[in-house]
Amino acid sequence: MNAKDLLKNKSICTLPWTGFELEPSGTVKNCIISKTELGNINKTNIKDIMHGKENIDLKQAMLKDEMPFNCLVVTCKRNTQQT
Ligand code: SF4
Repeated sequence: MNAKDLLKNKSICTLPWTGFELEPSGTVKNCIISKTELGNINKTNIKDIMHGKENIDLKQAMLKDEMPFNCLVVTCKRNTQQT
């Protein structure tokens, strides 16, 4: 994806690339409002969770400008913005 396409992409969000949400239970998600659990650090190390299928699929969808199901079903400011 070139920079021009990236600027037009309405599905991409930086959070899956820049960090994660860690809950007291050990559950790891992309962000605080995300419903999809990527894994749990009590069972899997964080590196494997972040390189896991759930997170890779979500990022691939965003790069193709396809809003991931996880991000569509939550009340995310990004999904309610007018263009
Ligand atoms: S729910 Fe919103 S803030 Fe969270 S990862 Fe998806 S697009 Fe980003």
